[in-house]
Amino acid sequence: MNRPPWAPEGVDMRHASPARMYDALLGGSHNFEIDRKAAEMGKKLVPDLPRLALSNRAFLRRAVRYLADQGIRQFLDIGSGIPTAGNVHEVAQAIDPDIRVLYVDIDPVAVAHSAIILRGNANAAALEADLRRPSELLAEVGATGLIDFTRPVGLLLVAVLHLLSDADSPAERVAELRAELAAGSHVAISHLSSASRPEDAARLGANAANVSRVGIHFRDRRGITAMFEGWDLVEPGVVELPLWRPESERDRHEQPGRSLGLAGVGRKS
Ligand code: SAM
Repeated sequence: MNRPPWAPEGVDMRHASPARMYDALLGGSHNFEIDRKAAEMGKKLVPDLPRLALSNRAFLRRAVRYLADQGIRQFLDIGSGIPTAGNVHEVAQAIDPDIRVLYVDIDPVAVAHSAIILRGNANAAALEADLRRPSELLAEVGATGLIDFTRPVGLLLVAVLHLLSDADSPAERVAELRAELAAGSHVAISHLSSASRPEDAARLGANAANVSRVGIHFRDRRGITAMFEGWDLVEPGVVELPLWRPESERDRHEQPGRSLGLAGVGRKS
């Protein structure tokens, strides 16, 4: 397969990537056949997978609006993914055009496409960095000059921590990031969970291990709540995606009690 013009040179086209599989699930166009096949396989196993992806995006938008309402004027979105409908800068800058947004992802396609859509936006940028190395990541964030670490930051870790294995110590990575943020900063986390549908979680986990070099690590409510250690959880706490401060019936992409995702927001006091 030839490399399409939107794909950066050297991109791995032989293995499915989580960013491109997720883009395929959301109906995006920045994915390869291998990613589409992997997404189709996931849908065969769990037919409501696209609704889960939509539900996660809806949580992301609600969390950004909530954080902006709390006075957050700069967002650090780690594991930001390939831009799709309702991106963080669009939601946030519709509230206040001066809000700054830095997208960070490990996937070169996600970063390249983000950079393209952000051309001409002085208050937003994209950076390639690895969440598993928070101090390097934060040094690179600092070098952009976009985020002021003396002021509260809205840290978004949405649908990314389940791509870190237990050996990557995701809760410790979150704590390392928290240590560098000013009081008043918030974190929004969503995470795939084995709590409500353990069999589907096991099926999807096994599929991911087969089709991609990055596994998916479903965690139970306790494991996900542990990621908020040191943050003050805001109401309603760690809940299923559609139950986190729903704004309308349209937010209910999934049936409560059946969501494969849990989410929450915490504040650093
Ligand atoms: N946050 C977006 C959302 O919820 O709609 C995108 C989520 S997507 C499922 C997960 C993203 O995390 C992918 O774009 C993937 O490349 C990125 N990712 C995975 N491991 C990462 C790491 N170690 N550091 C930074 N990004 C990572």
